[in-house]
Amino acid sequence: DRADFDTETESVCPFCGVGCKVSLKVKDNKVKYVEGINGPANEGRLCVKGRFGFDYIHHPHRLTKPLIRRDDAPAKGLNVDPGNLMTHFREATWEEAMDVAAKGLVKLRDQDPKSVAGFGSAKCTNEEAYLFQKFIRQGFKHNNVDHCTRLCHASSVAALIENVGSGAVTATFNQIENSDVAIIIGANPIENHPVAATYFKQFTKRGGKLIVMDPRGVGMRRYADEMLQFRPGADVSMLNAIMNVIVEEELYDSQYIHRWTENWEAEKEHLKAFTPEAMSEICGISPEQLRRVARIFAGAEAGMIFWGMGVSQHIHGTDNSRCLISLALMTGNVGKPGAGLHPLRGQNNVQGASDAGLIPMFLPDYQSVMDDGIRKSFTDVWGSGDFSNEKGLTVTEIVDQVYAGNIKGMYIQGENPAMSDPDADHAREAFAKLDLMVVQDIFLTETANFADVILPASTLYEKNGTVSNTNRQVQRVRPAVTPPGEAREDWKITVELAQRIGLPWAYNDVSEVFAEMKLNMKSLDNITWERLETETITYPSLHETDPGQAIVFGDGFPRAEGRAKFTPASVIPPDEAPDAEFPMIMTTGRQLEHWHTGSMTRRSLVLDAVEPEANCSLHPKTLRALGVEPGEMVRLSTRRGAIEIMARADRAIAEDMVFVPFAYVEAAANILTNPAIDPYGKIPEFKFSAVRVEKA
Ligand code: SF4
Repeated sequence: DRADFDTETESVCPFCGVGCKVSLKVKDNKVKYVEGINGPANEGRLCVKGRFGFDYIHHPHRLTKPLIRRDDAPAKGLNVDPGNLMTHFREATWEEAMDVAAKGLVKLRDQDPKSVAGFGSAKCTNEEAYLFQKFIRQGFKHNNVDHCTRLCHASSVAALIENVGSGAVTATFNQIENSDVAIIIGANPIENHPVAATYFKQFTKRGGKLIVMDPRGVGMRRYADEMLQFRPGADVSMLNAIMNVIVEEELYDSQYIHRWTENWEAEKEHLKAFTPEAMSEICGISPEQLRRVARIFAGAEAGMIFWGMGVSQHIHGTDNSRCLISLALMTGNVGKPGAGLHPLRGQNNVQGASDAGLIPMFLPDYQSVMDDGIRKSFTDVWGSGDFSNEKGLTVTEIVDQVYAGNIKGMYIQGENPAMSDPDADHAREAFAKLDLMVVQDIFLTETANFADVILPASTLYEKNGTVSNTNRQVQRVRPAVTPPGEAREDWKITVELAQRIGLPWAYNDVSEVFAEMKLNMKSLDNITWERLETETITYPSLHETDPGQAIVFGDGFPRAEGRAKFTPASVIPPDEAPDAEFPMIMTTGRQLEHWHTGSMTRRSLVLDAVEPEANCSLHPKTLRALGVEPGEMVRLSTRRGAIEIMARADRAIAEDMVFVPFAYVEAAANILTNPAIDPYGKIPEFKFSAVRVEKA
């Protein structure tokens, strides 16, 4: 009976960056069902995850009491049964667990503050992300704090900050309703941003021209006017060839380039070598199609470019994004209705966590840690002394320093690097070496297997705060149910831990954290807690009643003289080439039903029932050559390790490729992936590993 509920609470879906608004119908402190409501990003729509993927919050595996590793526990490893934790841990009071965690962190700090690092979470609120970075910076005087943006869009953000002066999207995805052409590259929104995909489909139905570029024949190809299934890792050659045509045929927007950009002559000169004929050899797309696509995009009145991790997760991820930015700039497609650059953000609050400073090189609002005045503006508010002016270590750099024995203690909030890091066995070996790992989470994740202290935390549907979606839209989340047992909201845990390591923190309500953030975050100007009670506000909001700017940079960029920049990009091959031993190419990603490392969706009845088993996808011809029937097991091996996994047939996969979702611990894709990183965004090359595929 859908009318039989006690309360209904408005909040935001906890999964992807679309940020769909939801209404939670609750009876007896249990969510009965979820409905989409009229948020600006979803207008009532939800995908299968938002609609059915809520029951993990009531799963019996929820952590309900603080836990401390037993003195007689087996050696640290990925060896804890989440249904039988007591073999490795014992229950503790909050008092004891906090005491062990705080004293352990202080002891390490006294020896060497840099022996402690932190991973915050893109699944927590903006206020929680802000507090987490403050905890490390104020508490340990350095910037070794990061989160999963490093594995996601760090390279896109690096290129955007470099060339347009801001790390966020220049236009909301809903702006596609004003576009006549759109490019979707390296993204699979039908599975990963399904509600955004509904807007993209509508765009094609009303006659918009869609250009899809991806090494996999992803679902949006069905709606595409042009499908460019290019060779994996060949993004720069393909994009430079398209831009070469725009230059050679003088299809660029001279007026826009002259008024709003710099470095055009260098870009133009650089592009001369990238002829469609020469680049076709590398990217596998015909010169005719490259020319056609160049003419379509350059001929648009208004064109948008959307991209995902197929672009960002390469050692040349920053170069890939530089090309997309250059393509938009040379065609004048920034700062007007229906035009813009939009990296589709992954986690529900990865935009907000990044904005809140949960990154090692930037304080909130992407303000450099190297700037003395900026650091002072924060320490004045925090009432504390200065901290390091050196950029901190990133996620994979921190793990390497743990492995090397230089980092001995970690505080990890809601992240699961034992599953999400590249070369996951290396990360797991590193975590086993830590003297102290404090994990704050809702489940005994693979990472929590290695913890010394586990602090039971809250789901998004149990907490108060704000989150920011891929559209720069700031929205309130509200508690619909109370956390189970003794679990607490994450911000309260961080505040108490901060107090116990000696920081003068005093917050009575999460709104006070938001008020503090506003003191040094211009992006939050005119966005107040009171307004957020009833409104979703897109930043920047120009005045007290402005719902916010869906499109930015129509009147210049936040760079010198208001000009965006062209940064030429050259072709760099992937880090490891297929060879006789590892002749195929592995790429990884997500599936519609499962979210990231699977800790939530694999504990959701409907989602797990639809997609219960670890699987990979291969072309039917490849399966035949291997003598494998769909549904049988294959063994995938790379230079890092091997897994066995069920094989599916998929004609959309190239014959020399295998696609592996990374949600399944029993066949963890990231045991196989390459940890080589992009030198600018420091993002690993998840999208290209040389692999051997055999019948298991
Ligand atoms: Fe949630 Fe994203 Fe699906 Fe919306 S599209 S319901 S935010 S997972």
